[in-house]
Amino acid sequence: MNSKERIQETLDTFNSIGERPEGMQRLAYTMEERQVHDMFAELCAKAGMQVRVDEVGNVIARKEGRIKEASPVAIGSHLDTVYTGGKYDGTGGVVVGLEVVRRLNEKQVMTDHPIELIAFVAEESSRFGMSTIGSKAMAGLLSEDSTEKAKDKEGISLKQAMERAGFPGADIAEAKREEGAMQAFLELHIEQGQELERTGKKVAIATGVAAPTRLEVIVQGRSAHSGTTSMDIRKDALSAASRLVLKIEEAAKQESSHKTVATVGVLDVSSGAMNVVPGEVAFKVDIRGLDIASKQRVIAAIESESSVLESEKGMTISMEVLSDEEPILLDSEIQEVLKGACASVDIDPLYIPSGAGHDAMNMAKICPTGLLFVPSRNGISHNPEEFTPIEDFVTGADVLEQAVMKLAVTKEVKVSK
Ligand SMILES: [Zn+2]
Repeated sequence: MNSKERIQETLDTFNSIGERPEGMQRLAYTMEERQVHDMFAELCAKAGMQVRVDEVGNVIARKEGRIKEASPVAIGSHLDTVYTGGKYDGTGGVVVGLEVVRRLNEKQVMTDHPIELIAFVAEESSRFGMSTIGSKAMAGLLSEDSTEKAKDKEGISLKQAMERAGFPGADIAEAKREEGAMQAFLELHIEQGQELERTGKKVAIATGVAAPTRLEVIVQGRSAHSGTTSMDIRKDALSAASRLVLKIEEAAKQESSHKTVATVGVLDVSSGAMNVVPGEVAFKVDIRGLDIASKQRVIAAIESESSVLESEKGMTISMEVLSDEEPILLDSEIQEVLKGACASVDIDPLYIPSGAGHDAMNMAKICPTGLLFVPSRNGISHNPEEFTPIEDFVTGADVLEQAVMKLAVTKEVKVSK
């Protein structure tokens, strides 16, 4: 079997679990996720790896290196999905990681450093409203408290679900890997955007992960009868909010050189009746980018337009920051390694920030981390329409294999703590 056939077959094997008419469904800490993890463990064991499951359910397979105490080079992604998901998000990255190990086995290569393949548990937020649970635990970012608070729609807490799956919450801290315990972490993922397609390139190196800043803006006007209130005395909260929405779009467009994006995806109009001039509008803004100053300029634009509307239209506008996560810049040396790996297989990579969160962003807290993207057709993901040609995963495996060789075969060996 060649590489392409192997990748296809392994993808099909994983996707034989949780397939439904409306899409793939392997939710966090469900039977389907357990089954696909068991399948992964079995395939890794067949590839000669030692497999263990950590205290929260991450599956970690290890191919020994020449130097046993050397810190491992890890590759990983996730096998869980959203409710009606596709076949490639996460799963593609796990399959490519396994393919790299199989290729090394085929060539009878033993690296200096051990190689670890990780299938992270519970990456998607669909069930508990919390994402990247497994990698959070590995990076020491998962508090026991948060596992009690996070609940699914049946009211089952994350803590209970973990217990039922055989991972009692008390051991969360044990899943943490110390800083420096890994030589590097690499993740390959589908892009979930259209930059690769648009540029005709095959691989992108992520420069960072653009964590969101989220705001809630409340525009207070005055509700009034739509028939009897003349236009000149109205305080229409929706027309004022509309100006803000357009301003947000314009401000983000002005920051396009920093690849900052801003979205208003939620807007609540009160009273929401056809015959009432809207008295209050609440809307939510999601701003993402790697450049903090650039994100700040978008926020400043909202503030200045708000004060204009307050004085011109007599509105009262309040803004609350719901969350403000720090963007994560990915390790520049690893980006260099990935660039070299691309060059050695004749690939000219694109450099983009990741607009979505991935396990790599947590791993970046404990070891030098790289994130590679392969194309996703029409940028569609979290949907059964999600598609990446197998050839693109083969190319991704070519790059990842070169990067792993570069990182795992060294003269100077760092000893694991
Ligand atoms: Zn994913």
